[in-house]
Amino acid sequence: MSQAPNPRCHTLPLDTLNFETRALHADGHNKPLHSHNQPIFQTSTFLFDSPEHGARLFAGKEKGHIYTRIGNPTVEAFESVIACLEEGFGAIAFGSGMAAVHAATLSFLQGGDHIVVGDTLYGPSTHLLVDVYAKWGIASTVVDPANLAAVQEALTQHPNTKLVYLESPANPTNKLSDIRAIAEMSHRAGAITVVDNTFMTPVFQQPLKLGADVVLHSLTKYLNGHGDVVGGVVVCKTAEHAQRVRNFRKDTGGILAPFDSWLVLRGLRTLKVRMEQLNKNGLVVAQFLHSHPKISKVMHPGLPDFPGHELALRQMKGFGSTFSFLMKDGYEAAKGLLERVHICSVGVSLGGVDTLIEHPASMTHASVPEALMAKQGLTRNLVRISVGLEDPADIIADLKQALDQL
Ligand SMILES: *Cc1c(COP(=O)(O)O)cnc(C)c1O
Repeated sequence: MSQAPNPRCHTLPLDTLNFETRALHADGHNKPLHSHNQPIFQTSTFLFDSPEHGARLFAGKEKGHIYTRIGNPTVEAFESVIACLEEGFGAIAFGSGMAAVHAATLSFLQGGDHIVVGDTLYGPSTHLLVDVYAKWGIASTVVDPANLAAVQEALTQHPNTKLVYLESPANPTNKLSDIRAIAEMSHRAGAITVVDNTFMTPVFQQPLKLGADVVLHSLTKYLNGHGDVVGGVVVCKTAEHAQRVRNFRKDTGGILAPFDSWLVLRGLRTLKVRMEQLNKNGLVVAQFLHSHPKISKVMHPGLPDFPGHELALRQMKGFGSTFSFLMKDGYEAAKGLLERVHICSVGVSLGGVDTLIEHPASMTHASVPEALMAKQGLTRNLVRISVGLEDPADIIADLKQALDQL
């Protein structure tokens, strides 16, 4: 079957260029009809010159496009850019972040295998990896990834572990994992490490460079960044792994649409400037909340009292703009805050241009079993905010007026 091209940064001198330049140029030059911008190939299928041409493409004897579920030039343009930014060999785009979580794991697993899963993840990821996979004979051990001895023990106790799955920083409490240390342990145990890098983006963290084998993103969040696409992507360190995920996508059919790929490509052009400003705004808002008497705890990796602060400084180049905080007066106060904000919009999702605020225990993480919620510190007085690009003074004023009314 057709082989998607290697990321173009492996054939052009782009790999010697810096991040901002790669974000703008890694989709390749020589676009059709001398177009400056990337065209959208809004087509389901591609035509063959002759029956022999079609047969050669299907036999993998010649490169070219066959059918959009298998590959599409607009999707590949996006894949090329994200592969260059994560510095992986190949990227495979999906129609949602959850489709990417599914592919980044199940491409490497079969019934009878065991996986080690971090105890704090996006709610549906926990549900998929722990509850759904169990039905197909893939057992899991949920560990506190901040406790390296616990990770090692899980690997030792389960020699059939094929994969370790982490989210760092984890949604919603920002718990951090030492990616380098865990990847080394996993490799010694014959397992691969998969990291969900949605909260950081390659601007602030590159898990493949820290030793992970596979990195994934919900494109819905920071990478697209404008709140108008649902998508996901998997980036692999090796060609062999990338081909496995690409074959998995062909079989299961979850490719990202050409138009959505084009929108995410547009989002990537401003990724670095957006992330840098969001990082600044997030820290200022976190500092305000930290000083407010109605809030008992702020879980932002940039605050010196955050348990993973030292690791954050070592492993990440920024802190992002999504974090959680605890209301002193319980769920009623959390609900009251959400009822009284005007600039911050109440809704799930994160990483867009404007501020979103939500209540994980009843929304994004409602599918997490209660015992695991307690283990994660995901209490009912916890509120998650994704700080946007508004003037932070306005976000703070909005939060302050809401808190003052409680
Ligand atoms: C949102 C999210 C996902 C799932 O992405 P969708 O695009 O909503 O399917 C996975 N991981 C993390 C960390 C997320 O925040």
